[in-house]
Amino acid sequence: MTHLHYLNTTCSVCGESCRFTIPEGAVSVGSRDLDTRPAEPLRSTIYAWVKRCPSCGYAAPDPGRPLDRAADVVKLPRYRWQLDNRKFPAIANTFLCWSIVQEDLGSPAQAAWASLHAAWICDDEGEDVAARVCRKRAADLLHRAWDQGERLVPQDGADEALLADLLRRAGRFREARAVVAETLEKNPQPLIADIMRLQGRLIAASDRGAHTVAEARKFRRPVAP
Ligand SMILES: [Zn+2]
Repeated sequence: MTHLHYLNTTCSVCGESCRFTIPEGAVSVGSRDLDTRPAEPLRSTIYAWVKRCPSCGYAAPDPGRPLDRAADVVKLPRYRWQLDNRKFPAIANTFLCWSIVQEDLGSPAQAAWASLHAAWICDDEGEDVAARVCRKRAADLLHRAWDQGERLVPQDGADEALLADLLRRAGRFREARAVVAETLEKNPQPLIADIMRLQGRLIAASDRGAHTVAEARKFRRPVAP
């Protein structure tokens, strides 16, 4: 069971006293999804990863930690529009607002992660259209991170594997297929190759569902004697 404790802090944007629930000690037991989403019990702690100040709406992993220009971003029309957007679950809006903060402060890689996390909330709430919007946004931000010479995951081929999953689950099969083909041509390390071959099969079957890294390993080709 996951134990809870509380974070008492002062919002760095508006000065409001805030109290947030924090689960502690949760780890991932079992295989992650292809988009890195951890297994339980860590999986279910997602609601506490980003917190929202109830007064000004500043959303961050720790709203008490001052972040340069965060106060300006919180006032942006697109931030206010996202904060209580009825097309998304409430917690997905919190993640998307944190994503906007990161994007505006010039960290597209972190913004992409926050948008992917928003997609996971939408998945849990059965909000398919919203989940697709979040994944499309994460894929666009990932490309922008690459343009700046940044990677979301340092390991070779891991970003490409993540991008293939974002595109497949957003229903953008043609683009996903191209990422799979390009990556396999570069002869990636075995786990990335396993994941890309699984992605190829899922795309061919128009499968937009969640699948795990363990499934990819299961289909590993036997090594020729
Ligand atoms: Zn505040």
